[in-house]
Amino acid sequence: MAKIQMRTPLVEMDGDEMTRIIWAMIKEHLINPYIDLKTEYYDLGLVKRDETDDRITVEAAEAVKKYGVGVKCATITPNAQRVTEYNLKKMYKSPNGTIRAILDGTVFRTPITMDCLKPSVRSWNKPITIARHAYGDIYKCTEYRVPTNGKAEIKFTDENGNVLFDETVFDFKCPGVLMATYNKDDSIESFAHACFQFALATKQDLWFSTKDTISKKYDHTFKDIFQKIYDEQYKARFEELGITYFYTLIDDAVARVIRSNGGFIWACKNYDGDVMSDMVATAFGSLAMMTSVLCSPDGNFEYEAAHGTVTRHYYKHLEGEKTSTNSMATLFAWTGALRKRGELDNIPELVKYADDMEAASLKTIENGFMTKDLALLADLENKTVLGTEEFIIKVRETYDAMVG
Ligand code: NAP
Ligand code: MG
Repeated sequence: MAKIQMRTPLVEMDGDEMTRIIWAMIKEHLINPYIDLKTEYYDLGLVKRDETDDRITVEAAEAVKKYGVGVKCATITPNAQRVTEYNLKKMYKSPNGTIRAILDGTVFRTPITMDCLKPSVRSWNKPITIARHAYGDIYKCTEYRVPTNGKAEIKFTDENGNVLFDETVFDFKCPGVLMATYNKDDSIESFAHACFQFALATKQDLWFSTKDTISKKYDHTFKDIFQKIYDEQYKARFEELGITYFYTLIDDAVARVIRSNGGFIWACKNYDGDVMSDMVATAFGSLAMMTSVLCSPDGNFEYEAAHGTVTRHYYKHLEGEKTSTNSMATLFAWTGALRKRGELDNIPELVKYADDMEAASLKTIENGFMTKDLALLADLENKTVLGTEEFIIKVRETYDAMVG
């Protein structure tokens, strides 16, 4: 069969450890046989980042801006131990943080769901996507451990030196704690746009929740910005597609999410999104089945697995031991990116390939062939545990049998 041709390249960002190995296997067995793959390759593996003083990460992000679609392998975020292990020039920042800062995006996390993987919440029969605002609030806070009696004040001075706001936060008569956080209208606006656009692209309802009844200025501003942007720019298109935008207090949202059947996007402020995405991932089954896409307001998309480089398995692999690492989320990062490329460039065969490959991987698991992590979770009579590469090869067999 003739290979599928691409028009525009995909930005390919290679990574580290076990996921780097999986990356190459997926290309060899599941992509290259079917697609005349066109990528602009950036090696974000730690060795190359160190060699280039991390310029490669910035260049990769710029390339995603240029081409609109990227796919990223998990990468090591160095800590002190990694600096020694890789003999690094310095402790580089998280590549995802660097890329996010350049693309100004919102992170959407969606579990890969299957009938044989029963969520802990019985009513959930469709995935729930968490959209996390990844800027500001407590992640950029100023905090202070109050040691003694004294007065905490909050003051805002405009650029001309006029004090516009000056209030006592608390008159301490004992030691305590103190914190100041902020956010920016333009960041909240881009978060809102990313959420509305993702809802349109995936044809799902969008929920948004904050604590606006208690935080009448801070959280209420989030609510107001979302509502204004929705009314002015998205309402008509949502109605056309028959999807809804729904704002509710976070307490109410939590209760409704648990009672729901899933199948929507839940937009959360930074901290809520951090916590809730871990809860949702766990309740759906496994981190190894969680996909992640960064969407920027000007329409760039970067796909990746939500998990890390699976270091523990990599060390086993280096010792020559057989591994059984789950490649599903990394495969879905590739199919997600290829599907988006196909949609943007109007290549229906590429979209079909992505749909079929995802279906084949799911069918492989339903047929009882899976990696060890899923074998522990799956509700199936007969299960065969496969090694990392064996599973990928099995998916290829299923795909070939399906597509013929
Ligand atoms: P991790 O790589 O996500 O792995 C944590 C554990 O989760 C693994 O040891 C494994 O459990 C299980 N697991 C995760 N993915 C799996 C998969 N595909 N198949 C089977 N099991 C899987 O997190 P980590 O060990 O905390 O971090 C390792 C490195 O990844 C760090 O250097 C960190 O900086 C980096 N990281 C990168 C990203 C990213 O690039 N987006 C995200 C997170 C972490 P068992 O060991 O019990 O089998
Ligand atoms: Mg978290």
